[in-house]
Amino acid sequence: MAKITKLDDIVSLCKRRGFIFQSSEIYGGLASCYDYGPLGVELKRNVRKAWWKSVVQTRDDVVGLDCSILMHPLVWKASGHADKFADLIAECKKCNTRSRIDHLKEKSNTADDEHTEHISIDAAQAHAHDLTNKICPACGAVGNFTEPMPFRLMFETQMGANVDDSMKMFLRPETAQGIFVNFRNVLDTARVKIPFGIAQIGKSFRNEVTTKAFIFRTREFEQAELEFFCEPGTDEKWYEHWKEKRFNWYLALGIKKENLQFRQHDPDELAHYAKACVDIEYKFPFGSGDWQELEGIANRTDYDLRQHQRGIRTLNDWFENNNDLSKIQLKAEDPDYHKGPLSYFDQENKKRYIPYVIEPSAGIDRSTLAFLVDAYDEEQVRGETRNLLRFHPQLAPIKTAVFPLVKKEGMPDTAKKICNELKKYFNCFYDQKGAIGRRYRRQDEAGTPFCVTIDGQTKEDNTVTLRDRDSMEQIRLSTDKLSGYLRKKLEM
Ligand code: ATP
Repeated sequence: MAKITKLDDIVSLCKRRGFIFQSSEIYGGLASCYDYGPLGVELKRNVRKAWWKSVVQTRDDVVGLDCSILMHPLVWKASGHADKFADLIAECKKCNTRSRIDHLKEKSNTADDEHTEHISIDAAQAHAHDLTNKICPACGAVGNFTEPMPFRLMFETQMGANVDDSMKMFLRPETAQGIFVNFRNVLDTARVKIPFGIAQIGKSFRNEVTTKAFIFRTREFEQAELEFFCEPGTDEKWYEHWKEKRFNWYLALGIKKENLQFRQHDPDELAHYAKACVDIEYKFPFGSGDWQELEGIANRTDYDLRQHQRGIRTLNDWFENNNDLSKIQLKAEDPDYHKGPLSYFDQENKKRYIPYVIEPSAGIDRSTLAFLVDAYDEEQVRGETRNLLRFHPQLAPIKTAVFPLVKKEGMPDTAKKICNELKKYFNCFYDQKGAIGRRYRRQDEAGTPFCVTIDGQTKEDNTVTLRDRDSMEQIRLSTDKLSGYLRKKLEM
């Protein structure tokens, strides 16, 4: 029976095998920032690649985009982030630790409920929260908090060297807005017709109040987002389509069904612009096992495109106020907004409208963590513990390892030749160090699906041993068939 995975086991394997390191570790580390090591970078690239393949490459109704992280400050005014993207926090009067109030646990009820949406930067809202029974996660004091206050989540920076023309900028807190502001560009150049989607993978930044559990919640992270534009009235159909597609993506890449669920947002939990929203949740091994958001899928209606039409109308005020966002109010919406610059003209039916948007928004780091947790296994083999990562072949950082059984009789040369041949198609690793059993175990821990061993028989009949990571079964295969066989098994 597989042992219940603890996050500590994963963290230690990730460090030991070079998947993930603490950022700036030789300087004592930087909280909530992580670096991907040689195996981790391959794993994360494979997660990205699998998302892109499913959402863009294999469809004819989605195109890709790669936007800059720094964007015009008015983008964040129009999107609502400049005014609304904040968490309500309270400070513990005993130990001065600040916490998100929606993350605080009740004294009598320790359920970890983290599902509150970000709120408006409007202190009036803060008074509605009763913290008398809430526990400080740092010192355990109960009900000893300051009044809740809003804390802005966007990182600020400065652009330009001269005082006169320098501007306060934000690092993007989501990739989605880059897609909305390029809607017209894509429409005019890519010969797309509604319904169609624009997809993007990239870094986002949020000055999270509390970070959590390894790479689950960090301040710099990668998102994979799709904005799927459709005609109003067809939005519910597309919402269901993407719910199913995205859920099945995780299953197809090996996530166990019992660890994955939908959580529909209650109407009072929905962001003001969203018509519906559902989270895909994974049962992470925090505490006693926590269902946590892996991806959100929202029906964002026509909200964002309409907001950016207001943003464009506000440009004159922007110049008149010397690029000072704090002095700007968004202009009211044009009564003829549905004919605005971000509207769509349906040639066939001769009608113009602002499209609705379905948005599946996934975290690349968070899903990488889920894939690691789900693949992790320990089993007893002949009195020894075998640690392994049962990665789906598409995700495995190394696809095949090649070993000479011993360092003589020309075996290393043959093994290197085979390894170089296989490298043309996928990541292949050569290893001649240590006993063969130990070399197998090292690859099990890296999640390598296959190992190929060259031995004495290879010279005689041109066959090698092929070992399967999961079953540990070994078969003999002729070297001319090796590449074809592996590529089929690995779906490469
Ligand atoms: P939360 O309420 O947990 O802060 P959210 O609901 O605001 O998160 P979204 O804005 O919906 O998150 O972001 C979409 C996805 O991006 C999330 O499902 C998650 O996978 C990823 N994500 C968001 N914030 C972070 C973070 N701080 N670290 C890592 N991944 C993140």
